[in-house]
Amino acid sequence: MGLVVQKYGGSSVADAASVKRVAARIVETKRAGHDVVVIVSAMGDTTDDLIALAEQVSPNPAARELDMLLTAGERISMAVLAMAIHDLGIEARSYTGSQAGLITDSAHGRARIIDVTPGRIQAAIADGAVPIVAGFQGVAQDTKDITTLGRGGSDTTAVALAAALGADVCEIYTDVDGIFTADPRIAPKARQVPYITYEEMLELAANGAKVLHLRCVEYARRFDLPIHVRSSFSSKTGTFVVSDISRAQGDAVEQPIIAGVAHDMGDAKITVVGVPDKPGMAAGIFRAVADAEVNLDMIVQNVSAAATGRTDVTFTCPQADGQKALAALEKVKHEIEFEDLRYDDDIAKVSLVGAGMRSHPGVSATFFRALSDAGVNVEMISTSEIRISVVTRTESAATAVQAVHTAFGLDADGEAVIYGGTGR
Ligand code: ADP
Ligand code: ASP
Ligand code: MG
Repeated sequence: MGLVVQKYGGSSVADAASVKRVAARIVETKRAGHDVVVIVSAMGDTTDDLIALAEQVSPNPAARELDMLLTAGERISMAVLAMAIHDLGIEARSYTGSQAGLITDSAHGRARIIDVTPGRIQAAIADGAVPIVAGFQGVAQDTKDITTLGRGGSDTTAVALAAALGADVCEIYTDVDGIFTADPRIAPKARQVPYITYEEMLELAANGAKVLHLRCVEYARRFDLPIHVRSSFSSKTGTFVVSDISRAQGDAVEQPIIAGVAHDMGDAKITVVGVPDKPGMAAGIFRAVADAEVNLDMIVQNVSAAATGRTDVTFTCPQADGQKALAALEKVKHEIEFEDLRYDDDIAKVSLVGAGMRSHPGVSATFFRALSDAGVNVEMISTSEIRISVVTRTESAATAVQAVHTAFGLDADGEAVIYGGTGR
């Protein structure tokens, strides 16, 4: 007997029948003698639908109210899931994030967890009940307003609660069998891996693999809490995210060189055209963008044209921050004396991730050969110790992911199963 924390994503509770199926699964775990704490996301695409509603009402919804609206999605699923569990003869109690003790800062839409005080959850467990906690939400310590943790944040709620409650493992139930070497929705030959390290999963998540929320992986690494990503539609063992694969597996297997390929269609590319090539100009550009709280990713500065003494500076940022970045730059146009701004959100970032890159030469050569053989045009490049990323046209993303996947020998024999979800 132990404490099991289970998180069910939106596609696992998309409709009434799915809610009942998940309820049966929870009851099975409970009847097997475990204490169970459940975290649940909003049903299906509810969060997207609520955002669309807000945008119909207001072009730029107030952040506090948008958070209040979005947390309603998880309230619905936690209540109906608790009802379904009751009907199977087990007591279940639903809690909002605030009631469950998820204390955050007050950054609406991207709040960070600063404390977890799960007294009511512990009391429910002691009573023999199954607590059902609404994912992705909390309450701000200073303003006492309701906050959300950002899209996909229920994973982070689950890991934070699992750590605070001292669970042995946090199970993340989703619509695929585990973590694959690429998103099976665009690379059908993606292969499921039994284990992946926190380090590699962090790079994959940071570069678009939304199967796990980035901060959930950061949190799990900090507490050395294993995450088990698996399907709520099958009983197969999924993928374990751990600190050390050979230790987890209990033998001295060598870690694969490449962990996987990630893609991200959510970025935009901004080019500041005709920047005077003299000291301080780049600093001025990036100060303006930072003051607008825009997170930059890749940065490239062209070689300046000798004739004009001017150069172009290009960077990428989340599409959601694009207009903010443009407005901030427009304000410093006269100070920096650049000529023009260009905005392009028809881009995709494709990244190859693997800790083995550190010690294996030739990875870049294979990567760029695969892209060129597939006719994919590379617009920007960036690297880290364990990652190579390129920016390409959106329409080339799937071709690029598949070509790189094949070139590194990652293709599986069969096709990956996708049980549900719309991939939104
Ligand atoms: P949930 O609603 O359960 O939180 P998400 O849609 O957030 O589910 O995450 C699951 C999806 O993540 C999968 O359906 C898959 O399309 C996508 N995904 C992206 N990269 C990967 C990967 N490397 N392995 C598995 N799934 C991935
Ligand atoms: N419902 C929220 C979202 O769609 C949180 C989550 O699913 O993790 O982003
Ligand atoms: Mg998710």
